[in-house]
Formats: sequence, structure tokens, C-alpha cells
Amino acid sequence: MTEDLRSLEFHKLEEVILTLGGEKYRAKQIYEWMHKHLADDLDEMRNVPAKLKESLAKDYTIRKVHAEKVLTSGIDGTKKYLFSLFDGNIIESVFMRYEHGNSVCISSQVGCNMGCRFCASTIDGKVRDLSAGEMLAQIYGIMKDTGEKISNVVVMGSGEPLDNYVNLMTFIRMLTDANGLNLSQRNLTVSTCGIVPKIRELAQEQLQMTLAISLHAASDEKRKALMPVANRYSLDELIAACRDYFDKTGRRITFEYAMVKGENDTEEDVAALSSLLKPLNCHVNLIPVNPIPERTYEQSDRTALLAFKNKLEKNHINVTIRREMGRDIDGACGQLRRRYLADYQ
Ligand code: SAH
Repeated sequence: MTEDLRSLEFHKLEEVILTLGGEKYRAKQIYEWMHKHLADDLDEMRNVPAKLKESLAKDYTIRKVHAEKVLTSGIDGTKKYLFSLFDGNIIESVFMRYEHGNSVCISSQVGCNMGCRFCASTIDGKVRDLSAGEMLAQIYGIMKDTGEKISNVVVMGSGEPLDNYVNLMTFIRMLTDANGLNLSQRNLTVSTCGIVPKIRELAQEQLQMTLAISLHAASDEKRKALMPVANRYSLDELIAACRDYFDKTGRRITFEYAMVKGENDTEEDVAALSSLLKPLNCHVNLIPVNPIPERTYEQSDRTALLAFKNKLEKNHINVTIRREMGRDIDGACGQLRRRYLADYQ
């Protein structure tokens, strides 16, 4: 099987081109074709000699994503993309328009192994990891479809990015490469369910991106009921790793907290959350849980949500309520893919 040309970092592409007898500057041309001009095919690279393209094509192809379906929200213009991959797998990505610029949310795996109880992406487990090129291709596909610039990228679609660590790191280096999109690390957010050893490894990389932790509960007992990963790592271990991340990078952590009626939205819960997070420099994002048909979880009432927010503010914890984008187009993580697979297979 051929390898994904779009997953080769610039210096690796240079090595490959030199090995094939091409001039060094051809690597820059080819890299720019893929990562600046968003070419999906060697045929598009008009200024690259045919002979070099032929030699490359023996070992490499550019793994494309193909938009099988694009849904546009009538409420806020959010667009949800169902992309098929070279092997027929399906993933989803989202385009969102904010006042401060456009944001793309990408998937990092096909399916997910983490088993969070409220999440549609994980119901049938993980199928495979995405390559760095496939993560980039989601962004490029959306840029081509919308014709718009992207100023923020969030790795918050299906999959657990820290369970695909090596490809994630390659993706980050390529996304921020001056020869490509050249996105600033500060405009990137990676969200994890909390794989502690990987958070510690990530802290060592000293990146300037934002780390988001899916917390969703403030006691080990409640977290275990929602997130199996809590059986592996205690909240104490998770918070210690977050503190380490902040100490090493100076970057404030974001905690995501999906509000589930009767499960994690009581006065007791907000008191526990306040004492857990008080010592940290952090930000809390409250998300009304998006109900999925496979589970019985319900959204917290608006009053419970606001009371929770007010209490956190009283305790001097930074908090926002996440705007629900694209509610009318299966906003919840993995929901659209599941519906598509059920309808078409
Ligand atoms: N695996 C990573 C990133 C993907 S999930 C993580 O766990 O962070 C992205 C975010 O969506 C996580 O915070 C996840 O808990 C949340 N999420 C998943 N399903 C949801 C749902 N039905 N309602 C609200 N948030 C959900």
C-alpha cells in the first residue's frame, strides 16, 4: 500500500525528494501545493516535473477526504461535514463562524475507545487512528468548500487525540509550519478526556496551544459513572497533571463540563467543582449535554445551569456557557456519523 504524502513533514519530504533524485527546492513546491494551495492530486502540481511525480506516485498518494454530505444550520450557519476517507471510513468535522474568526473542529480517530457514557462517537469503539494528513485534510476540505480563511482549529471531534499521540504531534507541527497554513499554536485547542501520562508528556513539549480537559464531574465516583477513563486515573492525579501542564507552558487549562440533569448539576456538585479548581489558573466551559437517542441523559434546566455558573463566578472561577452551535444539524459529537452509517449501510 502507498503511504500518505500529505502526512510527510517538510524535512521528511525533502529527504524523499532528494532520494528520488529531485532538487531540494522541489520539496518546497510540492509541500506548498498540498498545504498552501490545498492540492489533492499530484496532477494539479503544474510546475513539478512529470518524472518526479511518477517516481513519487510509486510509493505515495495524497489521501483525500471526500464530502459525502454537508449540512448547514439554519440557525447560525454552522456547517457539518461527513467526510469519507480513502478506505471508505466516515468521519465528521464542523465549521463554525464566530465574531473573532472561523473555527474548524476536526476528528482525530474513526470512532473512539474511551467509552464516555453520553457520547455517540464511542458506541461502537475505535476503528482506527487518523493520520496527520487526514487531520489536515479535514481543515483543507472545509477551506475549499467555504472559500474562507480559518483562524482557529479545535481537535474536539470524534476520537481521543492523546490516544493518537504521535500523529497528533506531527499534525501540530505541520499545521503550524511556515511552509503550510502557518497557524499559530495559540489558535489551536486540543481536548482530552484526561489520559494522565499523555498530559504529562504533552507538558514536556512546551506548546503554546490550549489544552481542554473533559472533566464533567468533580468527584471520582460521579466521574466514573460518566467516563470509564476515571477508573484509570483519579481526579487528584488528573489535577496534578494539569498543574504540571500550566507550570511548564504557562497556558491556562480549559475544563469542559457537560451539564447532565440530576447527575452533575446540583449545589453539592458546584461546591465540589469549586474546591477542586480553586487552586488552578483555569477556565470552565459549561455545555448543556446534547441528548443522544442511545442514552437517557437529559440536559440540565436553564435555571440549574445559570445557578451553577453564578456559584462558580462567586467562587472566582472563570466560566462561560458554551453556545450551542448547529443544534438543528446533529450537533453532538459522532451523532451525524452514526445516523449516516445506519441509513447507508
Ligand atoms: N476525546 C476528547 C475529544 C473529543 S470529545 C475529549 O474527551 O475531550 C469533545 C467534547 O465533546 C468532550 O468534552 C466530550 O465530553 C463532549 N461531548 C461528547 N458527547 C457529548 C454530548 N452528547 N453532549 C455534550 N458534550 C459531549
